[in-house]
Parts: sequence; C-alpha cells; structure tokens
Amino acid sequence: MNKSDFFYEEAKEYIPGGVNSPVRAFRSVGRNPIFFSRGKGSKIIDVNGNEYIDCVMSWGPLILGHAYPKVIEAVTKAAAQGTSFGAPTEAEIDLARLITEMVPGIDKVRLVNSGTEATMSAVRLARGYTKRDIIIKFEGCYHGHSDSFLIKGGSGALTLGHPSSPGVTRATTADTLCAQYNDLESVTAIFEKLGDDIACVIVEPIAGNMGVVLPDDGFLQGLREITSKYEALLIFDEVITGFRIGEGGAQQYYNVDPDLTTLGKIIGGGLPVGAFGGKKEIMDRLAPDGPVYQAGTLSGNPIATAAGLAVLSELRDNPPYDLLEARAGYLYQEIENISKNSDIPVAINKIGSMGCMFFTNRPVTMFSDVMTSNTDIFTKYYNHMLDKGIYCAPSQYEASFISTAHSENDIERIVSAVRKTFQALY
Ligand code: PMP
Repeated sequence: MNKSDFFYEEAKEYIPGGVNSPVRAFRSVGRNPIFFSRGKGSKIIDVNGNEYIDCVMSWGPLILGHAYPKVIEAVTKAAAQGTSFGAPTEAEIDLARLITEMVPGIDKVRLVNSGTEATMSAVRLARGYTKRDIIIKFEGCYHGHSDSFLIKGGSGALTLGHPSSPGVTRATTADTLCAQYNDLESVTAIFEKLGDDIACVIVEPIAGNMGVVLPDDGFLQGLREITSKYEALLIFDEVITGFRIGEGGAQQYYNVDPDLTTLGKIIGGGLPVGAFGGKKEIMDRLAPDGPVYQAGTLSGNPIATAAGLAVLSELRDNPPYDLLEARAGYLYQEIENISKNSDIPVAINKIGSMGCMFFTNRPVTMFSDVMTSNTDIFTKYYNHMLDKGIYCAPSQYEASFISTAHSENDIERIVSAVRKTFQALY
C-alpha cells in the first residue's frame, strides 16, 4: 500500500471522511486523497516522494508560489515574538492600510480568520445596516459554509429554496433567495416583488466555484444599479478574485463599486485569514462603534498578519499581473488549440491567472451551461494529468491557478501533458 493510502486509512479513524474539508477527499474523481508533505515554488511533493506541478496552489492563496522566501521570513520573525496576543498590534494597521489603498471599494476593513467568516459577517452587517432580512445569492456561487449560503434555488427565483445541507433550518432558508448568475432579469424579478425587504445581493464578481464563469458585459453594473435603486447593499465576494485579477481585484477590473467586499485566500499568504471591508459609514456600524456584533479571538493574529503583509507588499511593489496573464494566456491558448485538433470539444473560461476547462460543446456563461460539462471525461482527464505529474483541482467545478513561480518550462510541461492526455482520451 502506498503511504498516501495508508495515511488515508488511518485518518478515517479519527477525522470524518479522513479529511478536514470535503473536496480534498477526491471522491468526484474516483480516487483516494493524496497526502502531501511539502511544496516549493510551483511544485508540490506527496508523501510518496512524487513531485507534481501544482495548479491548485492551495485553492488560490499561493499567488507567489509555495514557501515564498519573504513570506517564510516574515512568518518566522513574527512567530519568534509570540504567536497571539488577542490584543491590537502595529502590523494590523499596516495590513489594513495596505488593503484600503489597494482595493478601491474599501475605506475600512476588519480582519477575520477565513472566507466563511468574512461573508457571514458581511451579510450580518448588511442586514444590520439596512434593517432588512432577505439576501440574494446566485446559483453556483459559493460563499463559504455558513447557514445562509447553503441554499439551493427553488423552481423559480421567487420560490423558496431548499437547504443544500441538513442542519440548515427552514427559517434560515426563507431569508435567502437564489437568482441566476448573468441573468439580470432573475434579480429584477425578486426586487420588483420584495425590494423593500432585501438587505443585499452577494456575488462572486467572477464566479470561481462552478468552474470559472465570467460576468457578461453589464451584469455587474446592472447589479450595482438595481441595488442602488432599492437601497440594498451590493457585496462582492472577492475571496478568490481579490489580488488575483489585479491589485484592486475584480471591482477595479470591471470598474464597479460595491458597498462591501469580502476577501480571503491571497491576503493570508497561505495562513488562515479573511477580511471584510467597505464604505466607512457602513463599517462604522460594527461593534464596538456600532451595534452590529462581530468578533474573533485570533483575528488579526501576528503570524497571519505578517504573511498577508509580506504577500500584499510584494504584489503592490512588483505587480506580477502582466507576467501571470502572459503565462496563463499562452497555456489556455495552447489547450484550446489541442482541443480543436481533437474530437473533444471544450469551453475554456479564463481571466488573468485563473481559469477552467469544461468538457462541453457550448459556451459556458450560466450555471445551466456548467451543468452540461461531461464529468466522466473530466475524471478521465484528471487522472491522466495526475499520472503525468500535473496536480489540478480534483473537481470539474473548481478553478485552476497559476502563480509567479510557474516558469515557462512548467507551462510547457503542462501543455505537453494536456496534449498526451487528449491523445489518450481520443
Ligand atoms: N467565498 C469564496 C468566493 C470562496 O471561493 C470561498 C472558499 N473557496 C469562500 C468564500 C470560503 O472561504 P473559506 O474556505 O476560507 O472559509
């Protein structure tokens, strides 16, 4: 038995399903999880000593690659001074200042420990600020695992959704309505009926949790207009896109000004960090200045803050976005060429260094298009790629990420693996 399988058997004794987050279990690609031991740059090494080119990068945080020296140095230095005080430190001001300088829609920001905490808190703040209860989310968007978001749409935008997990109450379900991404009419229909009760619309400005789906022209602007008209808040969940699409995230790229923004992944440089921020007058409604309660023992802890500061400073001082665009642009162009020369149609959605390939013969702009992707082919594709030393996200519905550590040679190796895989699938 290889070491990964051995660890998996052991892990199952003590950890539900053997993993601390379900998608890591690799079930949707029909194999056991891989246990990893280390990462360096663009590479990740498993417990059997196999090296892979990593296209997951911890699901997005590692835009500078694994074990980036400045991050390791900052974390080590901070840890030596004490791991947590549960009291303010100077570094928190530095990180908060940097975030407010880089993200256009953020005047003030509060640090938390995960993306889930960030979105959960942002929604509470939106409800507290507007004194309204209903939130609108989009089918196929993911905002972490708090109850309000684990809702599947009903048969129409105005029909009650269903909990997507046992444990989510009917009462919670009643306050979340699901609209369709890239379908403004589905949003308007809800506002026309319930406009005065809607606290906020929360959206991934670039959807990254149903694979990658880009916003159609005018979609995000349309959300801004309709939320402003009804005095509801617009929340951009930029947990993936923040600092990934550019220094100012998707809101800068598409020039849309949300009221609140949630962040995660890259701002922690691989440590557990999230944040939510926005307009001063809204953020000032938070305790202790305002009545909306939100707190965290380890929020803004020195080690995570040091890692985040190291990454964001690097991104601000040496913006890598043109380089990332060139590398990822070449990669996806080559994959498209390979597909065109085969009998396997794909739809490629990419922006900057995040992207995704669907095994379908139609463009993918909506959740219903995503659902046409042939997941059997994806599973075969996935396992071939893994055998060729390329580690992709083990699900059709996840994004792949390129980091600054991915060299031209790494990209050529990925292209070559895709070519061989398509030949094998052909
Ligand atoms: N929002 C988005 C857009 C995400 O992609 C994720 C995680 N993939 C979350 C929120 C939740 O973040 P976390 O896993 O850190 O709780």
